[in-house]
Amino acid sequence: MLIANDLTAIKGVGPELARKFGILGIHSIQDLIMHFPRRYEDYSTLTPIRHMRPGQVSVQAVITQVSGRYVRRGMHITEAVASDASDSVRLIWFNQPYRAGALKIGREYFISGNYALSRQRFAIMNPSAELVSDFPISTARIVPIYRETKGLTSVQIRRVLREIVPRLRAVPESLPPWLVDEQQLMPYAAALETIHFPETSNMLEMAKKRLAFQEVFELSLAALLNKYELLQDTSLAISFNEALARQFVGHLPFTLTDAQRKVVWRIYQDMQKTQPMNRLVEGDVGSGKTVVATMAALMPLSEGYQVALMAPTELLARQHADTIYKLLTPLGMHDKLALLVGGMKVVEKDRAREAIASGVAQLIVGTQALIQEKVDMYNLALVVIDEQHRFGVEQRKKLMSKAGHMPHLLSLTATPIPRSLALTLYGELDVSLLDAKPPGRLPIITEICSPNSRAQLNKKIEQELIAGRQMFVVCPLITESTTSKANAAEKIYEQFRTKDFNKWRVGLLHGKMKPAEKNDVMQAFVDHRLDILVSTTVIEVGVDVPNASVMLIEAADRFGLAQIHQLRGRVGRGGQQGYCYLMMSDSSKPPRRLAALERSNDGFKLAELDLELRGPGAIYGTMQHGALDLQVAKLTDIHLIAAARQAAEQFIARDEDLLQYTQLFERVTQLRAVTNLN
Ligand code: ADP
Ligand code: MG
Repeated sequence: MLIANDLTAIKGVGPELARKFGILGIHSIQDLIMHFPRRYEDYSTLTPIRHMRPGQVSVQAVITQVSGRYVRRGMHITEAVASDASDSVRLIWFNQPYRAGALKIGREYFISGNYALSRQRFAIMNPSAELVSDFPISTARIVPIYRETKGLTSVQIRRVLREIVPRLRAVPESLPPWLVDEQQLMPYAAALETIHFPETSNMLEMAKKRLAFQEVFELSLAALLNKYELLQDTSLAISFNEALARQFVGHLPFTLTDAQRKVVWRIYQDMQKTQPMNRLVEGDVGSGKTVVATMAALMPLSEGYQVALMAPTELLARQHADTIYKLLTPLGMHDKLALLVGGMKVVEKDRAREAIASGVAQLIVGTQALIQEKVDMYNLALVVIDEQHRFGVEQRKKLMSKAGHMPHLLSLTATPIPRSLALTLYGELDVSLLDAKPPGRLPIITEICSPNSRAQLNKKIEQELIAGRQMFVVCPLITESTTSKANAAEKIYEQFRTKDFNKWRVGLLHGKMKPAEKNDVMQAFVDHRLDILVSTTVIEVGVDVPNASVMLIEAADRFGLAQIHQLRGRVGRGGQQGYCYLMMSDSSKPPRRLAALERSNDGFKLAELDLELRGPGAIYGTMQHGALDLQVAKLTDIHLIAAARQAAEQFIARDEDLLQYTQLFERVTQLRAVTNLN
């Protein structure tokens, strides 16, 4: 039996059962082994019946009586009596009519369940019962509870796993022996067996420690290998033109924050090397990343090289082009800019391409489609990626093949990445923080609202509109009552336009509109030809409308903390007070996590909390499958993460051949594709 075999290779697993496992994403024996329990119930202590206390109990006893009957239609009761040397006890099962036939009178069982009062008499309720053996799976032990699906219970999962225990025991060690030694880790095979069938809670802890360490080690190693591989490539060395930088700063309508100055300085240092820069700039919404990106671009531009700036949406690309155009105008460098997005007319595109090909335009702003566009990027020295977590090595390799060298990469993000993730998932990146906002920004006043108080809320909002301000309304993509993506927003749009805010100009923006339409609506909002903009989350990133002071988030309980924080950063950018109203989908009690948004305006704190509550997959989940959702390790365990990261560094320093560790090699290769993200 090979670990890669289908489940049907296991005794007792037919196609129907295999199909149910498939629903849980379990197809091979390997998948099954890696389906770790979600939690455990401790039934390991056997108690003489006489000494049982109410609560979870396990006894070893002989079944002396058993009978079943329907007490009324749809309600079946099985009653049994079990006895040990000390006493007897009643066992009761509801609606498990097969029990009576399955229990053998006169045989000795392990019986585990909840000892509680039933109609004034104590009984063990709905217990598990197994003939006494040296390997029970549901009784008289620490019992694993799995993620289940309809028709596939933890008991069945345990049974199938029980079949492959001999196979589990034969799993070879996956980590280098010196590492297992040094970290005093439980051997791999033992850890796998223990995680499914722990003998003691002590051993279970050791197994968890081992598997958690391995998870984080693999992730860190993947990230580091990516990092070192990248350093083998060469980039264009860009010299630092101090006079130009001074000139640029001198024309800004504001002074750079210290944080901006420091980050720009680091970027200039990075780009002077022939090793490719791989820097992520993290800064809360409104921390001024666009200026940083523009300053980064200055140097390659002045050397005659090309720079590509990519934004996640056309809308944002256009806005960046406008902003950067203005920033470059005082230097006379604005004509080096070209916008290239899918929604442009063919003639416009041709004109842009020509300008780029002739070298007049060197700074190309667009969406990621830029990579596909037939544009000459021969001189590409720097790529800037804004608000984008999905620019991987594949895309970069594509650019490299166009340019003949690896471009420097600067990523900008407003999604704060907790330190733990920075070390693992993003371990290949150099991270800089824009940790101070430009002065004079007021924290956004955030309030959770219930649908019952909508009328009151509307009055408050109207005050802002009367004062000449504008409002963003964001709706989740899908709600229970809607199926199509645009619907939730459409519904609110209709309600606001015809009822709640019928005196005001309301616009609608959603993902299904054509780029040109989107752009028109957005432009109308920017020009204040609309007072209210109802949208799906398309506006999440980047968009700058300084006059907007109110953000209303519909069904806010469906959004993540980091996401809401990012959304609310869209308002109050013009120096006025900003408000964010979090409308609940119904009048139930708001989830605790939303309250964190009322209290804190600190994107980092919120990200840590989000990570704890929802796990990385939910936050950074748009990336790729569930590889991020570590099964055992907690990304909040900073000690573990530091140790695993250090071990990964050590592994690389020892210059060992990864190929000799087959399992590790396979796993790390998979992860390299996932961690190759910025
Ligand atoms: P984000 O980091 O969210 O991309 P932007 O680059 O869009 O932020 O900047 C937000 C606003 O702050 C812009 O209007 C920009 O002109 C302004 N800004 C940037 N840096 C400073 C600064 N040092 N002082 C004052 N305003 C600034
Ligand atoms: Mg931005």
